[in-house]
Amino acid sequence: MSKIAIYPGTFDPITHGHRDIVLRASQLFDRVIIAVSEHTHKNPAFDINERIALATEVLTEFDRAEVKGFSNLLVDFAREQKANTIIRGLRAVSDLEYEFQLASMNRKLSPNIETIFLMPDEQYTYLSSSIVRQVASLKGDISDFVHPSVAKALTGKHC
Ligand code: ADP
Repeated sequence: MSKIAIYPGTFDPITHGHRDIVLRASQLFDRVIIAVSEHTHKNPAFDINERIALATEVLTEFDRAEVKGFSNLLVDFAREQKANTIIRGLRAVSDLEYEFQLASMNRKLSPNIETIFLMPDEQYTYLSSSIVRQVASLKGDISDFVHPSVAKALTGKHC
């Protein structure tokens, strides 16, 4: 039976930190579904189709990874995809409170789905989509943090 994991998030936009987590997950699972959430309280700079297109472009090198959008409850989407593992990234202790809450709720909603946390390479522990958007909006150099196509999209956004 193939092991399928789902890696959900806003990916607004995808960064090298997200990519690092996909790399690690694809060494552990047969398939990794990067699930881009349509409904988010974050008021994203990129719409769902843009976020999916950028993530797809960035992750083409990973044969085991596939990008999909979803708009329903995460555990329902995971079940539809036959995934019984949710992957989340943990950068620092500050991520823990929210991630703990989310994982506990998902466990309550669907006890058969396990959440696994992966740590990125040290160089990405301070990286987030929002900080990249901020630096880009002030015309800072973001080439160390995102794929060139994401940098180009951010330049066009003026966000
Ligand atoms: P969400 O709105 O669900 O938090 P994000 O796109 O911000 O969506 O993050 C998706 C997941 O990726 C989260 O588990 C987050 O902790 C993780 N993540 C984000 N940036 C990084 C990074 N630089 N390194 C490792 N994990 C990260």
